[in-house]
Order: sequence, then structure tokens, then C-alpha cells
Amino acid sequence: QYLDAIARTDSTVCSYITVDGEQALAQARAVDARIAAGETLGPLAGVPLAIKDNICTSGTRTTAGSQILRDYVPNFDATAVSRLRGAGAVFLGKTNMDEFGMGSSTENSSFKPTRNPWDAERVPGGSSGGSAAAVAAHECAAALGSDTGGSIRQPAHFCGIVGLKPTYGRVSRYGLISYASSLDCIGPMAHTVEDAALLLSGIAGGDSHDATSSGRPVVDFAAGLATGLAAGGSRPLAGKRIGLVAQTMGEGVAPAIDEAVRAAARHLESLGATVEEVSLPTFGQGLPAYYVLALSEASSNLSRYDSVRYGARSPAATDLASLFAGSRAEGLGGEVKRRILMGTYALSAGYYDAYYKRAQQVRTLVQQEMVAALGRCDALLSPAAPSAAYKLGEKSSDPLAMYKGDLMTVNVNLAGLPALVLPAGFVPGSAEGGAELPIGLQLVGRAFDEAGLLGLGYAYE
Ligand code: GLN
Repeated sequence: QYLDAIARTDSTVCSYITVDGEQALAQARAVDARIAAGETLGPLAGVPLAIKDNICTSGTRTTAGSQILRDYVPNFDATAVSRLRGAGAVFLGKTNMDEFGMGSSTENSSFKPTRNPWDAERVPGGSSGGSAAAVAAHECAAALGSDTGGSIRQPAHFCGIVGLKPTYGRVSRYGLISYASSLDCIGPMAHTVEDAALLLSGIAGGDSHDATSSGRPVVDFAAGLATGLAAGGSRPLAGKRIGLVAQTMGEGVAPAIDEAVRAAARHLESLGATVEEVSLPTFGQGLPAYYVLALSEASSNLSRYDSVRYGARSPAATDLASLFAGSRAEGLGGEVKRRILMGTYALSAGYYDAYYKRAQQVRTLVQQEMVAALGRCDALLSPAAPSAAYKLGEKSSDPLAMYKGDLMTVNVNLAGLPALVLPAGFVPGSAEGGAELPIGLQLVGRAFDEAGLLGLGYAYE
């Protein structure tokens, strides 16, 4: 059914870079055989998933949205993928994305833009726009995305689905093609909080291949959701304190989004929670710090694409220097080059103290402030982005406008915290008769408290 849906829909939506129907059917038959042989399988067995194309899949092309990896077929699975494979999940294919995760609209894919299933004139968000659109268009049951500065949460908001960025280290990064290693996280994108919880349980946990992964025990995140809700009666969130982040409301935020978040706050109160406004004075410093740090790390991580060990080679190369230069010039896109240049600049001698070091100091302040607020509150509430999905092309020639759209999400990565985006209504269609567009809200939780965060989301939903 999902392959049929892809055949019907994906020529318009363009969620996938690679669809591997034969492999998916073979995996599904293997699950049938295991069940026929009497094996008891878990809840992910036979579930058709889509995987973002920066997450390595053994034997299936993995491009990270880049021409320099257009023919790269990994001979290993990312840990998140191998865990899902072991659980009997079925992989339909690999989803479109901004090249190396660098973007917020999926327009920076070197293959094609993805379109928002709610309105094909609009972007699905990014960089996990392919995964978000595939879930929203029912071209998969759920998907994996990755989130360095919002790439799971902002497309979840634009496409009206659930997106979870786990705590940094909760899910192994082994086999995730690196963008900014101190910020990158793999996480679930799904229709419901329960589906996201099931997927998180399937991919989380320590991994000897990733020294930054955490060995904290992984609970069954889905199991407690229904009982927790039932135990609370009509006020399941009694005793929970939610902080509405003052700096994320009002000026610069679309009025419909401001109103949707305030309505969500009232709904949380009706479920028994206390909602109070909290102030994070360093909030606005996070975005510039993020763009210095993410680009610095990217400039280092992307130096591996020399076309010797990886990637497409320039046919015009005559010696080693022209091989490096030509292959990178031809294989990397404009936004990726911009970021390598800016990151290299920020790290260079003489500028390091002014940019990189200062951004690290800001990162510490942002983190301390959020952690302190989460000492007083169980979760922080904010919009997921300042606007709903915008039109294709609207921001693609203005990188700064695109970067500014990440204001609501990047601080969470700087602080390494988990955050959940949930559907929270719609912006009505425009006077000219445009489609109504989904809006999400963002809840940020304490480090490694995905269970608490998912419990809040489940009650809200
Ligand atoms: N839009 C942000 C960026 O371009 C975040 C991307 C991401 O989370 N991968 O860096």
C-alpha cells in the first residue's frame, strides 16, 4: 500500500531520493516468515519506514542530498538503522534533504526540492523535509530524520506531524553523515506521539561505535503512555509546570502562531498543568552562536570529501590539487560552499577568539539558562518556528532570512536537550483561497527525560 501511495504521490511531493520497493517487499516477506516460524516480534516488525538520506543504509545509496555522494553505497548500517532492521522494520527508501542538512526548506537538495503535501506551492521545511512530507503524505508509516538545529522539528511543524529531537547522545550518531558533530541527533518523525515513542525505543541506547552516545538505560517509551494518562483522570497533567518562553512570543512571530501556542497553553492548563511565563534573556544570542559553531564544525567535517576516499571525481582533474579543487567545486552546492568558507574563516588564527571561542561561551550561557529554567519547570513551551510553511523560492535567495527562521529551535541543540513538536492547529487559508497550513508547538524537556516529554505530548494530543 505504501509503495502504491509513493507511485501515486511522489512525482508531485518528491519526498524520496531513492525508493527500493523490492528490498522493502523482501524485508516484509522475511518478517512474515519469522512470524510463521513462531517468533514473537516487537511492535516495529513489518512497519514501513522512510530513512533520511544522511543515515547510512547497507547496500542502499546514501547521498546526504549531495552530488559528491550521488553514487555512495555504504557497506554498513547506521546503528539506528541496524537496530530497526533487527526489529523487523521495513525500509521503503531514502528521503530528500538539504545537502548535508544545511538548510531549512529542502530547497538546498542537489537533486530536487520537496513540496509540502498540504500545499504543493510551499516548502515542507528542512532539512528533513523529505521525511516530514513522506509521513504527512502517507508515503510511509513513520520516518527517521536528523536534527542539528531544528531539522526534525521545523519540518514537523510545517507538515503537521510529530517530531522528536532526542537528548544529545540518546541515539548513536554512528552512520549519520556528520554536519556538526556536537549538535547532530537522529530522531523519529511520525503521525502520533505513541508512534514516535515506539521508534525512539527502537533506536535509542549506548553504542561502542559512538563515544558521545549515552549508556543510560532505555525504557520502553511507549509502554507507560496510556497508563500514565489513565492514572491522571480528567487532569492528567496535575502538578506539571510548563514555562512559556517570553522571548519566543509576540514580535516577529506570525499572529496565528502566537495564538495557537497560547491556545495550547490553555489546553495544557485544562489538563491540570500550571503554565507560567519564563524569561530567557540570552535567548536571542543562540542563533548567531549556532551559526558560528555549526559552520565551524561543518568546515572540518566536510574536509573528508576529497573524492579520493569518498565521492564523485571531477573528470577534468590532471593532478592531486586539481582533483581536490575540481571535485569539490563540482560536487558541493552553493550553500555548502558558503558554510565551509564561513566556518573556515571563524576557525582561522586571529579570528578564533572573536568568533568560535565567543560562540562557545554563549553556548554555555544559553545552556545554563535553559537548564536553570527546567529546574523550575517540567518543560518549556514555544512555537517551533516564527511562521508556517512559506512558498518555494521565497527565501532561497536570502540566506540570512532562511537562517533567522531557525530562531526557535537552535538553542535546544546548543543545550543538548530533548524537544518535541506536536501539531497544534492550522493557519486558515489566505484570502486568495490558499490551502490551510499546519502549525506545531514545541515542548523542550530535561536532559534524558524523553519519557516525561512524550507523556506531556500524549496527554496534550
Ligand atoms: N536549518 C539549520 C541549518 O541550516 C538546521 C539544520 C539541521 O538541523 N540539520 O543549519
